[in-house]
Amino acid sequence: MAYDHQNIFAKILRGEIPCTKVLETAHTFAFRDINPARPVHVLVIPKGPYITWTDFATLASPAEQTDFVRAIGEVARLEGVTETGFRLINNNGEDGHQEVPHLHVHLVGGASAGPMLRRAEG
Ligand code: AMP
Repeated sequence: MAYDHQNIFAKILRGEIPCTKVLETAHTFAFRDINPARPVHVLVIPKGPYITWTDFATLASPAEQTDFVRAIGEVARLEGVTETGFRLINNNGEDGHQEVPHLHVHLVGGASAGPMLRRAEG
């Protein structure tokens, strides 16, 4: 699947849609989710045109990958959830229920994330 440069996160990166920025680094951008599931809900995205984790793992440079991992840790620190804990969620593709086709990691915290996914019935 080709990267869609008109997806909403691409527009946020280009400044065409407003967002509440939390962190920006050389290769990574983080902003608040518009529909927060917990008191802290930040989306961390690479600036490059990667759709899924697989794309990012195979196509991104080591500098981009390192920057992304470090930025997620820095967002946790900035949001004050390093000690209390948080959950990282990354939805990929159809079975992952990914809505926006630009790689993003949800960092949620500030309240219990609840238990892990339960096994699907049937
Ligand atoms: P996912 O289902 O993993 O693709 O998550 C997409 C996330 O993007 C959802 O949690 C939405 O609330 C969030 N979202 C969609 N549009 C915006 C926006 N304009 N600004 C911030 N977050 C957004």
